[in-house]
Amino acid sequence: MAHAEAAAKFNENEAKVNWHDKALWFVRQKRDKQAYKVQGWEQLRDYASALKANVLSNLDSYLVQFEENAKKNGVTVHWAANAEEHNKIVHSILQKHNAKKIVKSKSMLTEECHLNPFLEANDIEVIDTDLGERIVQLAQEPPSHIVLPAIHKTKEEVDELFQEHLGTKPSGGNPEYLTREARKHLRNKFLQADAAITGVNFAVADTGGFVVCTNEGNADMGAHLAKVHIACMGMEKLIPQEKHLGIFLRLLARSATGQPITTYSSYFNKPEEGKEMHIIIVDNGRTEQLSREDFRRSLHCIRCGACMNTCPIYRRSGGHSYDATIPGPIGSILSPGKDLTKHSSLPFASTLCGSCSDVCPVKINIHEQLYKWRQIIVKDVPQPFVKKNIMKAAGSILAKPKTYDFVGKSTRFMLKNTPKSLINSKINTWGHARDLPEVKGDNFEEWYKKRQKNE
Ligand code: SF4
Repeated sequence: MAHAEAAAKFNENEAKVNWHDKALWFVRQKRDKQAYKVQGWEQLRDYASALKANVLSNLDSYLVQFEENAKKNGVTVHWAANAEEHNKIVHSILQKHNAKKIVKSKSMLTEECHLNPFLEANDIEVIDTDLGERIVQLAQEPPSHIVLPAIHKTKEEVDELFQEHLGTKPSGGNPEYLTREARKHLRNKFLQADAAITGVNFAVADTGGFVVCTNEGNADMGAHLAKVHIACMGMEKLIPQEKHLGIFLRLLARSATGQPITTYSSYFNKPEEGKEMHIIIVDNGRTEQLSREDFRRSLHCIRCGACMNTCPIYRRSGGHSYDATIPGPIGSILSPGKDLTKHSSLPFASTLCGSCSDVCPVKINIHEQLYKWRQIIVKDVPQPFVKKNIMKAAGSILAKPKTYDFVGKSTRFMLKNTPKSLINSKINTWGHARDLPEVKGDNFEEWYKKRQKNE
């Protein structure tokens, strides 16, 4: 389903759309307040962007350096070319330990690789331990946001979900009660787990260590209790040196949720005695994206979600309408690189206002890349007949001032004299949710000429 159609479905519940919009805008405002408190915020963004550019230009050597250092620390490093390989590696590690119960903290990479269904098909129980992730897992839905996975659910909906799956009492959506119940439920899962899977926020090339950020401490709880810790990372997650963590940690939490620091920013370096630690470094299309001159900067992304919180389209269409692992503005750049035809509507799901680029902590030129994709898509993907021909006609009208004047005049005449029911008919998709502005008598040029005459 194209983004606009899926968005129309989300828009059927107007109260929910308004609430979703407001909730995300609140996070955006929190981000602004925190960002303005940091002197040299723009400089931090510049540093982070330059560091990421440096990493991407020297990715081969940083990856090898990271692998060497991680191995020295006693960590086993695996390489996966794609999602299938990644899932097989995870499975083989679990099989070796006869692990049947897994706890997993938030990892968009494992979502991208569809790890949960793969492990479940192999009789392995996977419990997502981030509260938002657990909510969507119980609802059998994908996350709708990369930082706030259940932002599309109201507290009343969570209440019902917990009654059904966790046997809780009706609480009218009392967040404190629901969180306590989730905590009890997850505590047992942590204690029973044979292995823990986490994502990676930053992998440090010069130490071989990696940082995982959570607000709930769930990654730490899982990794410290289980005998085996598997950390899954996209190959772009590298930063050159440990000292650069200060830059990225400052930017990440503030951009993501408007917090000065993530509650738990844990730096994993080596396995505890008697335990095992594995890192899986995954490509899955990243090398290809790196080779696309116009889109390689999308690999700077540190998955803070700020571009989603600020995007007027995302806030009013919901994450699921993108039908992609990463929704919102950055997802609309990454997804067409994976499947251009399937995701061809996404770069058009933007006003190109540039707000996403303005808030991005690593200065990705998001709106420019969306515009680039549009140019590729109209050439390479067959467009709907009506849209294609209307755009062609618009192109030739806009290229000739006289034709433009003539069409403008005729359209104004038609709009004034045609019944509204005809103007807002089925063919005019623009008119489904909006009225066209009232037509004034003259256009600007005519008005200006008259004014000059009268002076
Ligand atoms: S593109 Fe930028 S703003 Fe969007 S999630 Fe990535 S780092 Fe954050």
